[in-house]
Amino acid sequence: MSAASAARLILKRLHEVMASRAHAQAKLDAVVEIIADSLSSEVCSIYLLREGALELYATRGLNPEAVHVTRLALGEGLTGTIAKNIATLNLAEAAAHPDFQYRPETGEEKFHSFAGVPIVYREKAVGVLCVQHAEPRRYEEVEIEALQTTAMILSELIAHKELVDDTEALAFDKAPTEAEVMEGLTLVKGLAKGRAVFHQPRVEIDQVVAEDIEVERQRVYRAFDKMRDQIDAMGREPEFGKGGEHVEVLETYKMFAYDEGWSRRINEAIDSGLTAEAAIERVQQRTRMRMREIDDPLLADRMHDLEDLANRLLRIVSGQMSTAATQGLRRDTILFARNLGPAELLEYDRRRLKGVVLEEGSLTAHVVIVARAMGVPVVGRLPGILARVSEGDEILVDADRGFVTLRPSQTHHDAFESRFVRNREKQAAYAKLRDVEPFTRDGTRITVMMNAGLRDDMSMLQVTGADGVGLFRTEFQFLVSATLPQRERQMRLYRDVLDAADGKKVIFRTVDIGGDKAVPYLNSDIGERDENPAMGWRALRLALERDGLLKVQARALLEAAAGRDLSVMFPMVSEPWEFDAARAIFEEQAAMLKTRGKLAPESIEYGCMLEVPALAETLDLLLPRVSFISVGTNDLTQFLFAADRANPKLAARYDWLSPAILRFLARVSGALVGSNVRLGVCGEMGGRRLEALALLGLGYRRLSITPTSVGQIKELIRKIDLDEITAQMQAWLFSPPPDMRAALEQWAAARDIDID
Ligand code: PEP
Ligand code: MG
Repeated sequence: MSAASAARLILKRLHEVMASRAHAQAKLDAVVEIIADSLSSEVCSIYLLREGALELYATRGLNPEAVHVTRLALGEGLTGTIAKNIATLNLAEAAAHPDFQYRPETGEEKFHSFAGVPIVYREKAVGVLCVQHAEPRRYEEVEIEALQTTAMILSELIAHKELVDDTEALAFDKAPTEAEVMEGLTLVKGLAKGRAVFHQPRVEIDQVVAEDIEVERQRVYRAFDKMRDQIDAMGREPEFGKGGEHVEVLETYKMFAYDEGWSRRINEAIDSGLTAEAAIERVQQRTRMRMREIDDPLLADRMHDLEDLANRLLRIVSGQMSTAATQGLRRDTILFARNLGPAELLEYDRRRLKGVVLEEGSLTAHVVIVARAMGVPVVGRLPGILARVSEGDEILVDADRGFVTLRPSQTHHDAFESRFVRNREKQAAYAKLRDVEPFTRDGTRITVMMNAGLRDDMSMLQVTGADGVGLFRTEFQFLVSATLPQRERQMRLYRDVLDAADGKKVIFRTVDIGGDKAVPYLNSDIGERDENPAMGWRALRLALERDGLLKVQARALLEAAAGRDLSVMFPMVSEPWEFDAARAIFEEQAAMLKTRGKLAPESIEYGCMLEVPALAETLDLLLPRVSFISVGTNDLTQFLFAADRANPKLAARYDWLSPAILRFLARVSGALVGSNVRLGVCGEMGGRRLEALALLGLGYRRLSITPTSVGQIKELIRKIDLDEITAQMQAWLFSPPPDMRAALEQWAAARDIDID
């Protein structure tokens, strides 16, 4: 008999028992009879985890007096070992196993062979199902398989109170309650508390036993087809075409998605009478069990991918496709995800989203930039955290130190609250600087602007007292739209932004899509061509070729700024002619507006980002053409170090305070001395205190930073003597200390400058 038919037989008879009107214990007694019969076993017993111990709930073959009397701790005896390790045992001679423990009240001494499988509910052992035999023999693989399938069904039946009345005392649904502190990588600083919400909610399996096997089989076939289509489409998305880890993940996805073995096992599980959902989960459970026995980090990574894929398949088959954003947040939320795209994050309600915890993530990934702009703390690089947290768990995020506390105790709360209060005091102190102009101690006015990307961000101009917007990322509107924003819509946004700025300068950067800023409606254009989108057809390169896009944006900007000053900045300029070409498009549009008699901007100035190292080599050619240059340290760093900014494996590898970057930046600022081109920095680097200190020492006098950093950077500026830090940086660049970060920290500490 095959495993499937053995299980199907058991299932069929279980069905009859479930349909009967017998009370719970009688049903459970009937269940052990059925299993023992079907597997020709002399004993069949069910142990359930109750109040921390495995209690014998039903048996055929052992002494009935032992029911509800025999109790074993987790890890105690064979049964306790199975539950503790969530692993199957199959023994010809039970007594020979080192964990065997004799329990006289059960009368089990006459039985030699033993096989037991864990009863698992939501990845935790909640009981054990075992069979015993007088003759010493190992159970066959088909019997073990049938036992495992039966155990899964039992777990669902018990959880739904169909076999045990009082499930309250059992371990079902009892997610871990104990506190756990995990340390990850700070991606956006800050403190937050709230309840855990999964970006992709877990699929709840309502029905385990199939009514019509053929229907279930078709459902799984269709889901596989859809999943394979999705995976193939992913390969065309820029996010996945970028080399490194993403490609590895995609390759693994593909391998599993097309793996005959996986789909066959799911089919077999359906044969045994399970619904499509239960069959996917059953196979996943078995894989998890196998993997637990293998201690190999590489395989564990693969397992992670398979889990992802199995979840995807479950979501497709059950139709539960929505994310938590579509369902709406109902309370203060800490969002959990393996990773997120910037557009996905922007879908969340800003008022409720308090923090984000990612299994992956890196410092300059756009999702992190968006979170920073939203003022949402993020901790990343926490592999495995999704399995340790349950939806609704209370969470404390201390992103200042990279800690995430799951289900905090009172002590955790107290410690958190005192940090929270201290943080608030600091914020209040920064807020007082709102109207204070940031002069250094020796009297130089530093320009502190903020970065923005959405209409909502503009209120931060008032809140922070920033000097203006030094980088308005116009692509954010493209990222949050389902379709390409038309000119009128673009124009309205730009006009509102200028209105909100109320005369302060706003530098609009033309669209920078591509790289990790994937736009679904342009994907077919962007994704298919690029092996490595960060260095690919993105930003100005794309905009110059699809000049319709840039023309429309130029018109929208020019119209929005009618009668006012307009500042335009081009991203990813690698050679001066690209700047000329982009500017020409704007001038052509401006001329056209004029011929149509429309009101033009009062003034237009053009500048460009310096984020491609090559541009630094032609500064002498560029300077006569531009009004300002803004160094984009996020991209600059990735290109200088050849290190993908979105790759979590490289997230902590290269430091902005490394001599290579600092010398590069010093060279650029040196090249601008004496010119009247304004020079600034608009990458994330400028919003961090130590980095800002270094930049000031390198001659940078204009910073455009994330709004939440404005207060602290103003405070820093007021404590600095520019001559002193300039001399120090010159000395360090000439002969770098072994640890530039530590040296700067000491320098700041000696002057009582807060760098935390
Ligand atoms: C940069 O690259 O530093 C930058 C500011 O632009 P973005 O992060 O949007 O690429
Ligand atoms: Mg950039």
